Formats: sequence, C-alpha cells, structure tokens
Amino acid sequence: MKDRLDSICRRISSAAEKCGRQPGAVRLVAVSKTIPAETVRSAIENGVTILGENYIQEARKKIETLSAFDVAWHFIGHLQSNKAKYAVRLFDLIHSVDTLKLARELNKQAAKTGKIQQILIQVNISGEETKSGATEGETVKLVQDVGRLEHLVVKGLMTMPPFFDDPQRARPCFKALRRLGDRIRALDLPTVSMDELSMGMTGDFEAAIAEGATLVRIGTAIFGERS
Ligand SMILES: *Cc1c(COP(=O)(O)O)cnc(C)c1O
Repeated sequence: MKDRLDSICRRISSAAEKCGRQPGAVRLVAVSKTIPAETVRSAIENGVTILGENYIQEARKKIETLSAFDVAWHFIGHLQSNKAKYAVRLFDLIHSVDTLKLARELNKQAAKTGKIQQILIQVNISGEETKSGATEGETVKLVQDVGRLEHLVVKGLMTMPPFFDDPQRARPCFKALRRLGDRIRALDLPTVSMDELSMGMTGDFEAAIAEGATLVRIGTAIFGERS
C-alpha cells in the first residue's frame, strides 16, 4: 500500500505542476470506505492526513478506533437527514450536502454543540437522473440559502461525473463545476468561501486537477479493489 500511496502522491504533484499549480494546492482525501481500521492506520502512518468515508455506522467505529491520530475525517457519501447528528459529531467536512432540508438539519445539530460545520454543496453537474446532488440551476440559490444558516460554512463544491473509460471525457464536468464555483465566489456571500473543489477519483483525478480540483477523493488506487 505504501508504494501505491507514494505513486498517487507523485501523480498528484506532477499533475498540479503540469498546469502551473502548486503541488500543495491539491490535497488527497484517501477514501477508506469498507477498508478495515488497521489498513487505514497504516495509510495514516505513511502520510495520509485526510480520510473519506461514505457510511456513518462504519465510520463511527473506525474514527473511534483511530482517535489517537491527528487526521481529518470527511464524509463523502449520501447523507440522510436522520443521520445528520452523527455526521456533525464525526466529520470535519461534509462533501455531500445537496438539499436545504439536509442543511437545516445539519445546522440544527451543529447549533446544539456550538460547532461551526464546514460543508461542500454536491452538484449533479452532468444532470444524470440517478445521481444525487443539486442541479446546476438550483445550486446558486441553495448556496445562498445555506449561507444564511449560522452554524454552517460553505467551503466549496463537490461533484461526481459519470464514469468514462477515457477520463478526458469527464473534463467538461470538472470545468463546469469550476465555473459554477467562480460565479458563486463572485457573489461574495457571507459565510461562503468557495475555496474548495472536490472532484476527481481513481480513474480521473489528473483531469480534475487540470480543471482546478483542490480535493481529490481516491480509494481504489491506494487500497486496491473494494470487495
Ligand atoms: C468511493 C468513492 C470515491 C473513491 O472512488 P475510487 O474510484 O475508488 O477512487 C470517491 N468519491 C466518492 C463520493 C465515493 O463514493
């Protein structure tokens, strides 16, 4: 795993440099869903500082087991409002907020503990019917509404394009997310920073970096195929 991790880190740096970006401008979220805590521990010992999890139940145990390590935990899966309480307790950044209803519930839970919860808005940029995420058309209004919730800070946008054999075909989706982020940043909304673009996975992260990704979510290339 160390070799795979080192190779991914090198590929991230060189993809950033290739388009004139600082290597440090792109951070790796190691996606550890279904991966046992012991394996995650060894990833942390080899330099991983951000972990991405998709399932609350699974993450809860893992985060507890690895609580001695100073790492950030990001929630990247689909989140139901009734799990908002746990998400706020466990995660530093939630990538997958796509409705005002969910945002309100997160805000309510964050208010209870006095936390300021950092979130990203998930956008269904390709418009595929089966995908979660706000539509491109809904996103500006959603960010404005979420921006008014006192215990949430919108740090940016996240997307998952359709799977393509050729990652270059995902580039228009990444570009569209970046442009949408630029448009929202220009509105200069309070408590909305638009610093982050969470896009790119094992098959397409280099294309995402070329279009401005700041967080790449990579699982398979680090931990191998999930069973
Ligand atoms: C599982 C998952 C990833 C990681 O995908 P890989 O192809 O294994 O790198 C990234 N983002 C989300 C939202 C995921 O669910």
